[in-house]
Amino acid sequence: MTLPIYLDHNATSPLRPAARAAMMAAMAVDGNPSSVHGFGRAARRLMEDAREDLARLVRANPEDILFTSGATEANNALLRGLAVQTILVSATEHDSVLAAAPGAIRLPVDGQGRLDLVSFEQAIDGLPTPFLVSVIWVNNETGVIQPVDEIAAITRKHGGWIHLDAVQALGKVPVNLCGLDVDAISLSAHKVGGPIGIGALVLRWDMPLAPWQLGGGQERRRRAGTENIIGIAGFAAAARASVEEINQMAVFAEWRQEIEQHLLSRYSDAVILGADASRVGNTLCFARPGQPSQNQVMKMDLRGLAVSAGSACSSGKVKPSHVATAMGFDDIIAGSVLRLSFGWSNRVEDVAVIKNAL
Ligand code: PMP
Repeated sequence: MTLPIYLDHNATSPLRPAARAAMMAAMAVDGNPSSVHGFGRAARRLMEDAREDLARLVRANPEDILFTSGATEANNALLRGLAVQTILVSATEHDSVLAAAPGAIRLPVDGQGRLDLVSFEQAIDGLPTPFLVSVIWVNNETGVIQPVDEIAAITRKHGGWIHLDAVQALGKVPVNLCGLDVDAISLSAHKVGGPIGIGALVLRWDMPLAPWQLGGGQERRRRAGTENIIGIAGFAAAARASVEEINQMAVFAEWRQEIEQHLLSRYSDAVILGADASRVGNTLCFARPGQPSQNQVMKMDLRGLAVSAGSACSSGKVKPSHVATAMGFDDIIAGSVLRLSFGWSNRVEDVAVIKNAL
């Protein structure tokens, strides 16, 4: 019997051994990081070491890292807590951005899922400042990478603030906040092989963001509550491992190319989403028109392959991919999207099994 193959790392990447070990070690620390005694100081040291590690990995200041319960919280805190008249988001954002900013202007993307920079600049030209732009750096469904340097430069030129949902960027593309002029990014541990339920909002220290949880004043008085030090330790360890292994993305891209060629040779109607855009290597998103996502996910599951229909975030229900719709595909294609996403647990042998199953 062959074991199931996990191909859903963009939904949750299995816990990395390094993260598990860091969490086990953190469980042995008995203290509240706000307590003054030795136990408390040990807990604080653990937490601040993790904060420094994470800051180093994304080239931010440790004080800029605010730990949250995940990227949904980070996105909500940022989008709901800044006093701006106008928010602009791309049409291919994650639901946690779209739902947190229901009144936002939705910026169009081209057929490859890239933000249309001309209409973006037209949309922000002359807006009262500051306005807020929020863009997904790497799309969770297609792996398409947005031109974030250009988007940030255009935003700045017109006096806006900019936030990036960097959840799918960490460990897949270099995240260097020294070289990127943005005000905030959101991160999530379980996308890089850390535990579920921990993430961060990396926020430039002078951003006037309102506190979103009141109480004991933790996390720079923005997010009160005793910190989840076990999760934080696991997050830092997983982030470190994922950044160390970033070159693996090039290997995944080769696997993906082989699978895509196989698909296109077997099915002349198969559509690869974002094929001509710059994409992270681990994500393959395709549709076979008229083959509903749900059916394909179940068929693949029966063959021992854990894949997902576009995004897996809506409590197991499969709806047409809003990302595919924004890219200009019709409902038939948007309802047939399938996503395979590789990660640290995959082996080259998986490629043959995937081709066979497809
Ligand atoms: N943004 C993106 C791009 C994501 O892929 C996800 C997870 N599906 C989130 C935000 C939400 O992250 P979390 O699960 O940590 O709330």
